[in-house]
Amino acid sequence: MKKKLSLSIQILIGLILGVVVGIALQSNANIATDFIKPFGTLFLNLIKLIIVPLVFASLVGGVYGLGDIKKLGRIGGKTMVFYMVTTAFAVSLGLLVASIIKVGANFTLPVEELVAEVKETPSIVDVLLNVVPTNPIKAMADGEMLQIITFSIILGSGLLVIGEKGKNLAGIIDSLAETMYAITAAIMKLAPYGVFALITPVVAVNGPQVLFPLIKVIAAAYIASIMHMAIIYSASAATFGKISPIRFFKAMFPAMAVAFTTASSSGTLPVNMKCVEEELGVKKEVASFVLPLGATINMDGTAIYLGVCTLFIAQVYGIPMSFNAMLTVVLTATLASIGTAGVPGAGLIMLTLVLTSVGLPLEGIALIAGIDRILDMMRTTVNITGDACCAVVVGRGEGGIDDVKEKTAA
Ligand code: ASP
Repeated sequence: MKKKLSLSIQILIGLILGVVVGIALQSNANIATDFIKPFGTLFLNLIKLIIVPLVFASLVGGVYGLGDIKKLGRIGGKTMVFYMVTTAFAVSLGLLVASIIKVGANFTLPVEELVAEVKETPSIVDVLLNVVPTNPIKAMADGEMLQIITFSIILGSGLLVIGEKGKNLAGIIDSLAETMYAITAAIMKLAPYGVFALITPVVAVNGPQVLFPLIKVIAAAYIASIMHMAIIYSASAATFGKISPIRFFKAMFPAMAVAFTTASSSGTLPVNMKCVEEELGVKKEVASFVLPLGATINMDGTAIYLGVCTLFIAQVYGIPMSFNAMLTVVLTATLASIGTAGVPGAGLIMLTLVLTSVGLPLEGIALIAGIDRILDMMRTTVNITGDACCAVVVGRGEGGIDDVKEKTAA
């Protein structure tokens, strides 16, 4: 944990240094763009290169983690409904809070040379039809993330259907997922340098005021996250789970603290299972199915973040967002959060997918990258709390809450 904390401090130092050097180079901005920016581009390319295999492997693994195709029925259905509904709500809340706060309104980047790149947003019917790839290999080669996500879910289900015969392939895909997590972790070690190299040219060319809107991004993401937990999780725990919200959050505190400091849902999974089983009394059969699946596919905090950051980038670049574009964001961010691995910084990678879906400039990520760790800590906390809330709700419905433990813990 100590090591992780020092990485976040390093990233903050990279950010501050980048701003300072950027200010110093304002009159010689070409030094920043010619000599420093390429390292930032290199860092961006590195995170982009892992997207396809990371999403594919972690998602197939998540579906396969259901264990048995029959379980896909009742428990799987309930879990998926809870995950999808709360996640879609989370993106919408992120978009709403971001538009009320006007996250990027006071600073508009010159957009002239970017206009050519802005694609027209496809209609919602086209988006839905396009979700199913006719050729999965082509989808991967083209980096069509929505199609890759659909294929991964279908492949994971297929693997479950063939049972024993699927074990080898599932094992290989699991190794691929583990490898990708390790590579993500390694790339995150370069983040302080990447952040420095991404921020310096932005500040040198545009001036330090480009950073001011970031305070609003952090505020919007944190406010929306706290609201989501206070409203959705409290209400779900109380009504469907029949557990008082105070008891729920008290029991969850250790897992939430670990999530906040490690910024990793996967890393928090063991503590989360302990809190949910031992403190909240959810039976193991429910917890051991709902929580690992949730650590891979249920990311409400990431969904909020994707909503806030997308609106921020649109506003900073002065690109208006139509209602259709907002709907596309809700859809793609919900699916993107499913494909987000539960490791630090994964959400930032998925932001490229959401931005692409509505034709926003990917360069906007450079602005977010500098503060991503601060956002990651909060979104991971929401991510794992959502998993636990689902375990309580599904657990109660399935008679899977141990009332004796519940009473002794209360
Ligand atoms: N770090 C987050 C998690 O582990 C994923 C993300 O980056 O959004 O839950």
